[in-house]
Amino acid sequence: MIDILEFTLERLTRTFDKDFGKGRFHAQALFRDIFKQGNLNFLTSPEFLDSPRFARTLKGKVSVNPGVVVNTFDEGELTKFITRLSDGLEIESVVIPMTRHNTLCISSQVGCKMGCKFCETGRMGFKRNLSISEITGQVYNGRHYLKKDIKNIVFMGMGEPLDNFDNVMGAIQVMNQQQGFDIALRHMTLSTAGFVPGIERLAKMKMPGLRLAISINAPDDKIRSSLMPINNVFPLAALKKSLKDFSLPKRGIFLFEYILIKGLNDSPSHAAMLADYIHPLPVRLNLIAYNKIIGLDYENPCDDEMYNFADLLSAKGIMVIKRWSRGRSVAAGCGQLGTHR
Ligand code: SF4
Repeated sequence: MIDILEFTLERLTRTFDKDFGKGRFHAQALFRDIFKQGNLNFLTSPEFLDSPRFARTLKGKVSVNPGVVVNTFDEGELTKFITRLSDGLEIESVVIPMTRHNTLCISSQVGCKMGCKFCETGRMGFKRNLSISEITGQVYNGRHYLKKDIKNIVFMGMGEPLDNFDNVMGAIQVMNQQQGFDIALRHMTLSTAGFVPGIERLAKMKMPGLRLAISINAPDDKIRSSLMPINNVFPLAALKKSLKDFSLPKRGIFLFEYILIKGLNDSPSHAAMLADYIHPLPVRLNLIAYNKIIGLDYENPCDDEMYNFADLLSAKGIMVIKRWSRGRSVAAGCGQLGTHR
């Protein structure tokens, strides 16, 4: 069975050649119909009508399995959607409107092993990795089921993408195919909790332009370990070393995400320590106001605390973007995926 959402054009061409004595002409047609047009009646397109015997052979041998969208939640232009996978497990993805297009926040695992204390997915525990087609299927559903113009991908949904390394890399290759979804590497961002072995592996891959975001959230090991158990295994110094060794493209930067939590990581001294940690890495820092989750003791910062913290970092020469996480009312804000309402 050809699970088409797992295939690059080259691989599909090779498969057609080896298994059916056909080549790129038909592979391109199938790619266009499925990835670009979402046309599930692909065997009725001209290229296949001209090759009826091949079309008959392919029938039942090609499957498109993006999972079933079982629920959507809207907040303005933002949409969270829930996809039921073939084994009944569910994942969440969020379409986030930007100025000219949409960004899709996708999941890489069902649940997560990392157990970050502020994160709803972390509280679910880990169920399993997503396959390549379960990852790319979120783009398929976003574009062809929800009819959203998706140009950017962020791996910031459920799961630690570097802990599902091979499938995430495979999905990135599929999403990057010009004849398919055609999403440039520089429009994809992979966000990690600081999984150092994954960062080291990624450093060896040829993925020019792919952006790396690090969920940092604390200026020292004590606070970070209390929020993110992964810090006990890969503390800040080890994380920084892996980033220093990571060769960025010219003018490339790392994205750091820092969820500001009232009374925990938001003081002026925390800002100063964070600035020291960041130096001399090229970093753009996304400062995100914590979203209160019922049942957790963490509190949202007020606007003044956000501004003060950002100003202190800016004064140290760090580029800071302040974000009040969107999608709160549909539990689609940072750290909130994993709650079905
Ligand atoms: S923040 Fe990311 S890495 Fe941490 S538990 Fe949640 S999904 Fe996993």
